[in-house]
Amino acid sequence: MAFRILPPCPANRGLEALIPPSLAFELAYALGCVGTGLLYHLAGGTLDRALILGLACFIARHLYLLVRLSRLIARGGRLTSPFPRGAWGDTFRALDRYQQDARRWRKRQARFALRFREAANSVPDGLIMLDKAQRIDWANGGAEVLLNLSWPRDAGRHIGEFLSHPDLAPLIEGADYGHSLELTPPHNQAIKLSLRISPFGERKSQRLVVVRDITAIYHLNMIRRDFVANASHELRTPLTVIAGFLETLGDSPLTPVVHRRPIELMVSQTRRMRSIVEDLLTLSRLEMGLQSEHTEPADVPAEILAIVHEAEALSAGQHAIDLDLDPNLLLVGNPVELRSAFSNLVFNAIQHTPDGSRVHISWREKAGQPVFAVEDDGEGIAQEHIPRLTERFYRVDKGRSRASGGTGLGLAIVIHVLNRHDAQLIIASDPGKGSTFACRFPGRGAIVRHKPQILTS
Ligand code: ADP
Repeated sequence: MAFRILPPCPANRGLEALIPPSLAFELAYALGCVGTGLLYHLAGGTLDRALILGLACFIARHLYLLVRLSRLIARGGRLTSPFPRGAWGDTFRALDRYQQDARRWRKRQARFALRFREAANSVPDGLIMLDKAQRIDWANGGAEVLLNLSWPRDAGRHIGEFLSHPDLAPLIEGADYGHSLELTPPHNQAIKLSLRISPFGERKSQRLVVVRDITAIYHLNMIRRDFVANASHELRTPLTVIAGFLETLGDSPLTPVVHRRPIELMVSQTRRMRSIVEDLLTLSRLEMGLQSEHTEPADVPAEILAIVHEAEALSAGQHAIDLDLDPNLLLVGNPVELRSAFSNLVFNAIQHTPDGSRVHISWREKAGQPVFAVEDDGEGIAQEHIPRLTERFYRVDKGRSRASGGTGLGLAIVIHVLNRHDAQLIIASDPGKGSTFACRFPGRGAIVRHKPQILTS
């Protein structure tokens, strides 16, 4: 807003547009200085002294206002009215407006920070901001409770002082933040926490750690897992006894003909129940992590050949199975688990494709990663089913899958085994054309056998 010398009448407005009031004042002031010099000269002073006097008058005001302004700015003080006139007045007023805006912005920021802290403290989850060196920048109330820390007292301390897990540092530093980490905090062994990391800030160099108390879910999961494991274990013996007697009855010449068909059905259903029980026990073992600690260089080509023999028996010559194996490519892993996963994929390709289908099995290194793949030219799977295939008891066609002897647990076992080997399951299917199930292992697990092996099936 310009400082007005002239009242705002229409005639003056034209003049204002031509010479802004602040410039008009500065011109008038300069003229005043010239006039002072002239008066001095007329009063008998020499011309050069008159010139110096005029200049001194002119400079004195500017110097005074400049010093006043720089002192105010240096002290961080407020620029208050009355403001000087002319161009300096404009400058003071503009700086005053700027100071007011900055004050309002700081107040808004402080209010926002307070509201943000209140909101962050109202969530039960722990939120911790870490700097580049994984030191605590800020933590909410949830984090104080869950990790037994106190903010701001513990600001600057390393997160490792409050949580310890061998995978914690790699998770914070790594680029893959899709995973969560489950751990027990050192200060309370009775609780179970789940940790997620998200990068934020300039060039994503800072980390937000989200900590959640999953004790209740963890215990429920344990109860479910133990129940399934115990129930399966308890069912195993009675089923073996029933199956044994039924088979004896079925084979006995004394069994009346009219009972033969029902006994056959009972034998096949008991077999199915035993398969389900065995698969449930395998899944429980995998969940409890009882096997995979035992890793060694697994002779995958030999395992595949053994699986193919079983698959041929299952197919009874109704499928064409062809192989493309690297005989010297071994994999560090748990051989029992790997065999279980690979056999499930191969048997699926036999069980879920019509007679006359072709099944192609390959074991090769692709782009530095060992890949086991089973490809068939069966009916394929519609896209909407693919994300759910690894759920327990999920079947595309329930009736047909049961009839083909499936337990509905095969792919759940596969995904568990692959997770425990840091591997991925890639499913591609084209309805009407066939499906491919590929297991892609990390390159670090591959071992190339130096003494070349010739495979014989
Ligand atoms: P199942 O014991 O029924 O085979 P899985 O978990 O191994 O259970 O497979 C889940 C479902 O995925 C199967 O019931 C079947 O519908 C489908 N499926 C698996 N493999 C194939 C395949 N190669 N071709 C077509 N469908 C398949």
